[in-house]
Amino acid sequence: MPEVREVVILGSGPAGLTAAIYTARASLDPLVIEGEPSSTGDQPGGQLMLTTEVENFPGFPQGMMGPELMMNFRQQAERFGAELKTEKATKVDLSERPFRVWIGDPEAADPTYLTKSIIVATGATSLMLDLPNEQRLLGHGVSTCATCDGFFFRDHDIAVVGGGDSALEEATFLTKFAKSVTVIHRRDELRASRIMQDRAFANPKISFLWNSQVVDVVGEQSVERIEVENLQTKERSSLAVTGLFVAIGHRPNTDLFKGQLDMKDNGYLITQSPSTRTNVEGVFACGDVQDDIYRQAITASGSGCAAAIDAERWLEAEE
Ligand code: NAP
Repeated sequence: MPEVREVVILGSGPAGLTAAIYTARASLDPLVIEGEPSSTGDQPGGQLMLTTEVENFPGFPQGMMGPELMMNFRQQAERFGAELKTEKATKVDLSERPFRVWIGDPEAADPTYLTKSIIVATGATSLMLDLPNEQRLLGHGVSTCATCDGFFFRDHDIAVVGGGDSALEEATFLTKFAKSVTVIHRRDELRASRIMQDRAFANPKISFLWNSQVVDVVGEQSVERIEVENLQTKERSSLAVTGLFVAIGHRPNTDLFKGQLDMKDNGYLITQSPSTRTNVEGVFACGDVQDDIYRQAITASGSGCAAAIDAERWLEAEE
């Protein structure tokens, strides 16, 4: 059986890596299971790896690119001795202590790690439209990440789906490359913040298709066009685009904890405010996996710090 660790952190976004910095500085030798990239946008480093410029993270008056910010978090955690593994937990057993964590085959008799405490910081994942050809063309014109893929659309006509901050941020960023960006939104009013709306409306490359939804993505090898339905008139039309960026929100990554940790109806973990404690003693949750309200890098980071302090105090009390 593996040695029993003090703390295992699941997730490596701002919450997980802040928890790593704090627990490492508290000499708890944290192990961070940072996740693996997947076709649906899972990403070590979390959602900031899929974003562009971050202008509202305090301490960086000129703004900073999301991936660069996360690289700094990572280096800071490693500097204090945090161990990071690019792998994905496939099962956790929180029914007894030490807690058990599996990597790879979830049916394996022995767990990969044993730990006295766990900090859950598994974040949230991009939602998709669930169109027949969407998955097939993911990475071939369909994308959830403008930072990763925008470069490939130089002088192309592209579309972005959604009406929130993510959609407008992606659309605005994509105008650096694209010839035109059409934002397709299912209502006639945006959900995004006023400043993002103002920026998008002022951008001559961005146009809007209101009260509309994408009903199909068409293309053999890559996206050639999309089919759009007007939700009021039910009229269908084709839009000749080579890129479709889906920016319609996120789902918390809580499947691993079903039946073990208390969750809200929408799947977000429940913590015992004002702490980061979950219903299982010794298991703490921070970041987007337990936050369906603020969902900011700085709030994730702050709650990662709180989880580390909660875990440290709990371990101390146990001993
Ligand atoms: P969001 O605010 O939940 O917006 C999702 C958008 O997608 C909504 O406009 C929604 O339409 C639309 N949508 C949802 N499901 C859809 C479907 N099946 N088909 C078509 N459209 C669909 O998500 P978000 O934009 O990812 O933002 C999440 C949070 O992160 C927000 O709090 C946001 O402020 C924050 N954020 C901040 C920044 C920044 O400040 N730089 C950047 C990105 C995100 P309806 O409006 O009709 O519901």
